[in-house]
Amino acid sequence: MSTNALELGVDIGGLDAVVMIGAPPTLASAWQQAGRAGRKGAPALAVLVAYNETVDQYLMRNPAYFFGRSPEAACIDPGNPYILAQQLACAAHELPLSADDEAAFGPQTPAILAALEEAGETRSIDGRAYWAKTEFPAAQVNLRTISNDTYTIMDATRNNAVVGTVDAISALELVYPDAIYLHEGETCFVRELDLEQKVAYVEPRAVDYYTQPVLETQIRVSCELQRRTWRGESVMLGEVTYAWQTVAMKKIRFHSLDAIGYHTLALPKLTLETTGFWFAPSEAAWSAVARAGLNPIEGLSGVRNLFLTLLSMLAMCDPLDLGGLIDSSNLGRPALFVFDRYPGGLGFAEQGYARLDELASASLAHLEACECGSGCPSCVGLPILRPAQQQDPDLGHARAIPGKEAARALLRHWLGGA
Ligand SMILES: [Zn+2]
Repeated sequence: MSTNALELGVDIGGLDAVVMIGAPPTLASAWQQAGRAGRKGAPALAVLVAYNETVDQYLMRNPAYFFGRSPEAACIDPGNPYILAQQLACAAHELPLSADDEAAFGPQTPAILAALEEAGETRSIDGRAYWAKTEFPAAQVNLRTISNDTYTIMDATRNNAVVGTVDAISALELVYPDAIYLHEGETCFVRELDLEQKVAYVEPRAVDYYTQPVLETQIRVSCELQRRTWRGESVMLGEVTYAWQTVAMKKIRFHSLDAIGYHTLALPKLTLETTGFWFAPSEAAWSAVARAGLNPIEGLSGVRNLFLTLLSMLAMCDPLDLGGLIDSSNLGRPALFVFDRYPGGLGFAEQGYARLDELASASLAHLEACECGSGCPSCVGLPILRPAQQQDPDLGHARAIPGKEAARALLRHWLGGA
């Protein structure tokens, strides 16, 4: 059996071993996949073959992280209005809701019930909200992503067989026309992206390069909710609006990482209202990097990439659940933003905000354990399999990876030590 799904009618009770190629996106799914072998009580073997990706390499160097954690500590924000609206719709389908239910669902309940009624999903009779539609609301609740919006990826050479799906937030960064979409280790060329039908048509094609989208991004602070001082930096948590557009793509050769092509794309601009944390490194941090003859912006880019990967480990989410970018327009100087790539946020950025010491220490340890010279996709670089967060103008088109030494200097400035 060669699948990570269970659709083949295989008697999984009889499996003795599982080989996972690449780290599954979450610890829970790794355990779930490993647990498909050995169901009849006999000893079983699970092997994880790591990619040259940050998360994979982190697990190889820190097996205790994998074996020492409970996969149950998943993070979800029940106050997120998008999640709550779906939960209330499902609850109303089971039993009519009344004012008393605010105790169970929280203070946002009346406002969200009013919105559901306005949308025609519920109807109030004698102060009770009844489910007003014929559909079964739970069918609309996607456990993987709270936005129901997904794009389907189809293989145009195999009668449009479905290869996978990608959420609408990531689609325009992953399956734009001419992109190379990596599917279970195979390279697929994106022939066409149909924005109306939300379908990407691909064909398997053996190429020696991958593609990275060039994004034009903006982030606006909508509302600062909290502020704290961390290692001499003023760090904020709040609501942000992220806007992005894939304006071009780069082709980057595997292994050598040389940029071998670049062309522009015409795709729509998207926006996302979510939760993030941010800070602009102080003058002291900036000059600590500059004094060492290194470029502070490169350092901050490397820190952003490390933070995105290591926060996904700390908060137990998929690396694709997080976004990050460097922006000067909000604070008047370069600031690092890390945010949840979900409408309203899922609580991951809050964890980053609260656990900055842990996040920075894990980032420094990971960077220092990497055996590369000046930086690679396993440490300060953008992992190949995730969308680009932001193209850094200072890095130029030829260099896809920020400097490792600059990121190290910044982290050491914060954490102390030489
Ligand atoms: Zn490295």
